[in-house]
Amino acid sequence: MLTAVFQEKVLSTIHYSREELISLRKKSLPFRCPHCLSPLNLRIGKQKVPHFAHHPQSHCKIGKQHESPRHLLSKQLLYDRLKLHFKEVKVEHYIKNLQQIADVYVKTESKKIAVEIQCSSIPISDIFSRTQGYQREEITPLWILTQPVKKKGNLHLPSFQQAFIRYSPQLHYFLLHFSPEERRFQLFTHLIPVSASAFISAAPVRIPIEEFTLPLSIPHPTVNRPHLLKNWNQFRMKWIYNKLHYGNAKDDLFLREVYREGDTFLYLPLFVGIPVLPHGLQFKNHSVEWQYYIWKDCMKKELFFSEERVVEVIKKRIDRGYLEFRSLPLVGVGGLLEEIVKSYLTLLEDMKVVRTLENGDLQLSEPWMCPDNFPGFERHQHDFFPKWKHILKKV
Ligand SMILES: [Zn+2]
Repeated sequence: MLTAVFQEKVLSTIHYSREELISLRKKSLPFRCPHCLSPLNLRIGKQKVPHFAHHPQSHCKIGKQHESPRHLLSKQLLYDRLKLHFKEVKVEHYIKNLQQIADVYVKTESKKIAVEIQCSSIPISDIFSRTQGYQREEITPLWILTQPVKKKGNLHLPSFQQAFIRYSPQLHYFLLHFSPEERRFQLFTHLIPVSASAFISAAPVRIPIEEFTLPLSIPHPTVNRPHLLKNWNQFRMKWIYNKLHYGNAKDDLFLREVYREGDTFLYLPLFVGIPVLPHGLQFKNHSVEWQYYIWKDCMKKELFFSEERVVEVIKKRIDRGYLEFRSLPLVGVGGLLEEIVKSYLTLLEDMKVVRTLENGDLQLSEPWMCPDNFPGFERHQHDFFPKWKHILKKV
């Protein structure tokens, strides 16, 4: 903790220099926890920002939690920065109705903002419930991920880190990350999934803490967004090969469906598994999977089909456990399935894979014959890629 009670006043280490704190400590003053009032030790080590700590025997539920050096440092840096902009900024602000502490709390004339810094993994359900709690109290939460993220070509995000993904019409799906050691934020925008945990992103936008303010503003007028989808089919093929190598038809629902249907996994039509921007990201399953179910349950079987029918097919697959949405507590989800289906069908129509009939129903432009050998599939590629390139130009 960065705060303690001393002589009925709240005192925070961030308001003192190291030297001042050392001389305070020499006086053995009775610092107490603001929540349980038990005595606290003032720690001034080399590794961490100076802070207060409970005695190991303490049972304090609110104030006693292990705080990593990154967490303490992040709190201090964000407090110092926001203090320059806003009059009312508090560190470790206790919100009584919620019985929880906001790492940094900002109150303006029109708004209350709670900054939540997350260095360690917590259950995603906690992010959901805390966000709802803040909203009930009319406080806007700003969740900041400080856990290191893995970027090796693609961005690799375990489910916990994906829970920090947010959405805006300008940035599409994006992740805000703060590195206290480097004193800067990184904003990964226009995320496009290539597997359950890997994403392509636009070049990250770096925001030094000296430029950070609330609401977050992006210093560069345009986000550098190279042709993210150029290598799409390579990622699609890589995913298919991985599934073939490591998947097991016994416990893999998707593989079992493909084999039972008698489809050759390698030669599925190329319009099964295309990226659907931006909301296709909501599916945890690869686009080959959910688009395959549309293909199998709808397009292949029914002469004509409607958009509503496709939505129904997907809903059924979700209910039966074949498909799943990602847990994204910071993104609203209402009506997205309809939007995803609409975007996908529009893409298919633009590529002339399907056509719209007069009554609004859809129909495959030509029946699909699954190739039984590679040359047959090559012919399909030859037909398909020019159409796909045409779509890419518009993205
Ligand atoms: Zn306590």
